Amino acid sequence: MEGKITDIETMGLVDGPGMRLVLFLSGCNLRCQYCHNPETWNLNGNTQTLSSEDVLKKFKKYSVYYGEHGGVTFSGGEPLMQSKFVLETIKLLKENGIHTAIDTAGGVGGGYDEVLDLVDLVILDIKAVEADEYKFITGQEKTNFDKFLTACINKNKKLWLRQVIVPGINDDESHVKLLKEFAKKIPNVERIELLPYHSLGKSKYEELGIEYRLKDTPDMNKQRCSELEKLLK
Ligand code: SF4
Repeated sequence: MEGKITDIETMGLVDGPGMRLVLFLSGCNLRCQYCHNPETWNLNGNTQTLSSEDVLKKFKKYSVYYGEHGGVTFSGGEPLMQSKFVLETIKLLKENGIHTAIDTAGGVGGGYDEVLDLVDLVILDIKAVEADEYKFITGQEKTNFDKFLTACINKNKKLWLRQVIVPGINDDESHVKLLKEFAKKIPNVERIELLPYHSLGKSKYEELGIEYRLKDTPDMNKQRCSELEKLLK
């Protein structure tokens, strides 16, 4: 089967261990205020299609760079909106001994069990710890996320947690301490990172005719974000 892809990064360095082939899949059911990839929201938007075999071929073309420690990461958008394609491709990649990761917000509500059984790493975006803030940021209830996290815990899946830090929303120490307490209760967390909010996606909203709700919010100071991250250690 084929997957719908908005973009491909062949030399990704931040979405999983080693150097990676990163696929940005179309479709997302959340509407995060700070999303810098609104062009991925529409499952049938401006996409190209790739088969699982195409993904394997692409990986093999650059395999000398990926080496033993790299792999393939399914990002988006929300990769689990296309969980059948992701599952089929992960199966093929695993048969070829390739490390796999998904970068997900965990908000799709189901259809991911087999993906979780097979994938090597889940990079989980924590939009907010508290339900009302989660809804404020994403426009959706937090129940699907809670269910997904429970599935990751039950399957003892290796997790990297990430949270975007946005000035005026969650850039204070109390938010970070809350995140730390939350993460402490999850046994299978290998890494936790804070990502500074940036407004680089703003022009895409203008092109798409979508209101950019953070137009008055400055970019997050990277130094301050690093200081906040130290509180997680
Ligand atoms: S989950 Fe990711 S792709 Fe979807 S709206 Fe949020 S930031 Fe954008």
